[in-house]
Amino acid sequence: MTNQYQTLVNQGLGRRLARQLGLPRPPHLRRYRQGQPLVPGPVVVLGSGTSAQPLADVLLAWGLDVVRHLSPGRTAGAAVVALDDVAHPSDLSEVALELGAVVKSLAPGGRVVSFSRPVVDGLEPEVAAARHAVDGMMRSLGRELRGGATSNGVLLRDGLDVEAPSAQAALRFLLSGRSAYVDGQFIEISDQRGELPDDWDQPLAGKVAVVTGAARGIGAAIARTLSRDGAQVVCVDVPAAGSALATVANDVQGTALQLDVTRPDAGHLIIQHARQRHGGLDIVVHNAGITRDKLLANMDAARWNSVLAVNLESQLRMNDAFLTAGLQNLRVVSLASTSGIAGNRGQTNYAASKGGVMGMVAASRRDFAELGGGINAVAPGFIETEMTAKVPLATRAVARMIMPSLMQGGLPEDVAEAIGFLASGSAGGINGGTLRVCGQSLIGR
Ligand code: NAD
Repeated sequence: MTNQYQTLVNQGLGRRLARQLGLPRPPHLRRYRQGQPLVPGPVVVLGSGTSAQPLADVLLAWGLDVVRHLSPGRTAGAAVVALDDVAHPSDLSEVALELGAVVKSLAPGGRVVSFSRPVVDGLEPEVAAARHAVDGMMRSLGRELRGGATSNGVLLRDGLDVEAPSAQAALRFLLSGRSAYVDGQFIEISDQRGELPDDWDQPLAGKVAVVTGAARGIGAAIARTLSRDGAQVVCVDVPAAGSALATVANDVQGTALQLDVTRPDAGHLIIQHARQRHGGLDIVVHNAGITRDKLLANMDAARWNSVLAVNLESQLRMNDAFLTAGLQNLRVVSLASTSGIAGNRGQTNYAASKGGVMGMVAASRRDFAELGGGINAVAPGFIETEMTAKVPLATRAVARMIMPSLMQGGLPEDVAEAIGFLASGSAGGINGGTLRVCGQSLIGR
């Protein structure tokens, strides 16, 4: 439906009509295809931060056309902005205006990526102000860019530099088509860990991944994406979804495990299956989820409890099992939701479960890191799946086109790409955070 509308309003008569009527025209998003160029043109490196030259060196090592100034008449594929040294709001003015000139010539599907530092306790007020100003600037720029271009940032904790493998991996993810529906977001690099892949098109080569809720929707897309990126995939879903599950498992040449994740021994059964059939376990994606929407005033125990049990309590229990088994270097990614960030009418139970997921990953990061691994969440916005097909038509139309900066719902593949990135060894220095994949929806921060 979105695609038909998108095609209609972006071509010939439909485009003219849409312009006259002021209808939203969702842009084409530049999505990852193996072998495509990383960016659609030269990369302009701006800013005088310490990281400017190292960033240019990294981009050059990837074989990109890197320039410090865009010559007149050229189109930029991306702008990378070094703001890691900003210590006063006045430090921003020159680079902001330079960036303004570059985005006038940004290609469709172009990217703007900033490098700055997070706001932490104990900073001087002007330093904190400058760092937070970057946040506001980049998020607002996301709302101004057109043609499917996006604006995101990498936050380097004090003491880290661009040499940190995960800083480079985050930059590459944000420049690439893998981040097509990630807009107005910041990825925080918390430590030096992380290992860059030998082949950027096969970042999960040799890994064994478990995906729960893999029979359809986002879970099926995750299984396919992880497999494309080189992982062996165990597809988990309830017995009732057995035949759809077998189809996905066959497609990805993985194995199927029929399992209700709310079973008390689910974690144990997953470890056992992965070890016996694949020789180990490196990645777990907690994707299985349900909605049972009702206003809180009309909520019943069955609706509340089932949503919390599937979406959150099962994950807590399975994580306990993984930690107790001492699984080394395990990377876990959990599905949260923008509803858990901003709240959503009729979804107190669902938002409680998804808010809970974000709390869980933040509090579990140390335990997984002690074993060499990590845990993060991905919070999708409006994604076109069977789950959202149940949302009333008018609400769906609004959610797709008016609220997000990218003026459309996302695809399951968009969520899967972000999960693939966070599950990879190159994201080893990213831990305990939540990455939104929402096209910069107005909902939440
Ligand atoms: P979906 O309903 O299409 O698929 C969910 C899958 O999970 C199904 O195959 C289902 O059988 C499985 N499942 C449910 N309970 C299970 C259990 N107890 N044990 C094992 N498997 C179980 O949903 P989707 O839209 O693909 O969503 C996937 C995840 O993404 C969910 O966690 C959801 O909350 C989250 N999410 C989706 C959206 C969206 O817009 N679609 C937005 C934000 C978050």
